[in-house]
Amino acid sequence: AADKIDTIVSLSKRRGFVYPCSEIYGGQKAAWDYGPLGVEMKENLKRQWWRYMVTGREDVVGLDSSVILAPDVWVASGHVATFSDPLTECTSCHKRYRADHLEEAYEEKHGKPPVNGLADLNCPNCGNKGTFTEPKQFSGLLSTHLGPTQDSGSVAYLRPETAQGIFTNFGQVLQTSRKKPPFGIAQMGKSFRNEITPGNFIFRTREFEQMEMEFFVKPGEDEEWQQYWMDQRWNWYTDLGMREENMRWFEHPKEKLSHYSKRTADIEYRFRFGGSEWGELEGVANRTDYDLKAHSEASGTDLHFYDQEANERWTPYVIEPAAGVGRAMLAFLLDAYIEDEAPNAKGVMEKRTVMRLDHRLAPVKVAVLPLSRNAQLSPKAKGLAADLRKNWNIEFDDAGAIGRRYRRQDEIGTPFCVTVDFDTLDDNAVTVRERDTMKQERVSLDQIQAYLGARLIG
Ligand code: ATP
Repeated sequence: AADKIDTIVSLSKRRGFVYPCSEIYGGQKAAWDYGPLGVEMKENLKRQWWRYMVTGREDVVGLDSSVILAPDVWVASGHVATFSDPLTECTSCHKRYRADHLEEAYEEKHGKPPVNGLADLNCPNCGNKGTFTEPKQFSGLLSTHLGPTQDSGSVAYLRPETAQGIFTNFGQVLQTSRKKPPFGIAQMGKSFRNEITPGNFIFRTREFEQMEMEFFVKPGEDEEWQQYWMDQRWNWYTDLGMREENMRWFEHPKEKLSHYSKRTADIEYRFRFGGSEWGELEGVANRTDYDLKAHSEASGTDLHFYDQEANERWTPYVIEPAAGVGRAMLAFLLDAYIEDEAPNAKGVMEKRTVMRLDHRLAPVKVAVLPLSRNAQLSPKAKGLAADLRKNWNIEFDDAGAIGRRYRRQDEIGTPFCVTVDFDTLDDNAVTVRERDTMKQERVSLDQIQAYLGARLIG
């Protein structure tokens, strides 16, 4: 339901996943800060992506290029001329929208595009029909000035995608990494877009993180490789526990493709925002040889590949899986959130909130809980927590009833709770409780590292 997103927003704030940005100053619209749990989860996501896409493979290497590149890069890439969105404004309530988003929402609802374009649409804010202005193109590039002067000569752009830093370094990576196509260069990092309508929590923000990989292939082999990467990327999400019934492919219609693309397919997730059911999670694009050729021409440095064996020179085609960290995190949170029932202290069933996150994504792996705050139990439990902390992110909590402490851990997705009780002082064993099944097992202290290690792989 649409209110699930509200539940996630409030849980995120209450538990420290995501806070509204600059809230003490009344907030910065549509900007968000990642709290103690959020930053752990975000790093886990990025680590999983990096392992799957880079270090787990022999044919992909990593890169970390600058956020601010030479301004000429963005001219050559086509962004200065064409990276823009159609802006329209309702003449009744003066709310601004992206015209393409309004039309897409109409199409999703009615199964067909509006016959007369914007004239057929009601303003989502005031409800008036046919009140939209003729759309004007609005640049999505965020710019700044470098150095002490603020004239046009000092303008620089904050990157709207990480990809261009990869293309400009293509020649150097080719030389130094001793890779040859088919191979890829991956990078994660912040990107910036002057979005007309940021919103839907961390789904669309002006500052966000991307995880991108440019995979360079021989022209003619591009279609096969695109299919390969589409499959890989789908599997990455499902392997980390995302439910396939909440995912689908969206094929970009030919006439709406970006200026560089031969084919783009998006993985969409059922975000269920009010107004639209599905939203883009990531795109897998065939960028052809557009970027390498454009930079070759504009820079005078020929970014090609020379195949010695075949004595052939060609410009690789590029397949690009491009994902957003925030969008992935939001999708995993929505997907993992469930409500079930658990017995309370008196054995009566009560509602329980569980974040069924894959343990690789869970911000806290193990909570160590002394049964009660006690001069004997607490030091023992603290010692155990310190031991486990060498391997995992551990929470120690000795305040309040044990049942409530379990609930708190369930709500943030902690896979295991380890309870130190009075028997521990005699038998040197602890009770391990698993989040989803709530099954409890007695494990001896000298086995606990191995027990958890076998279950918290990756
Ligand atoms: P949209 O159509 O939603 O604006 P896009 O097609 O412009 O997205 P891409 O250029 O394909 O997005 O960017 C790749 C990925 O980067 C997206 O799938 C998304 O996960 C992420 N992303 C893009 N823009 C934003 C944003 N403003 N906020 C958060 N994530 C974003």
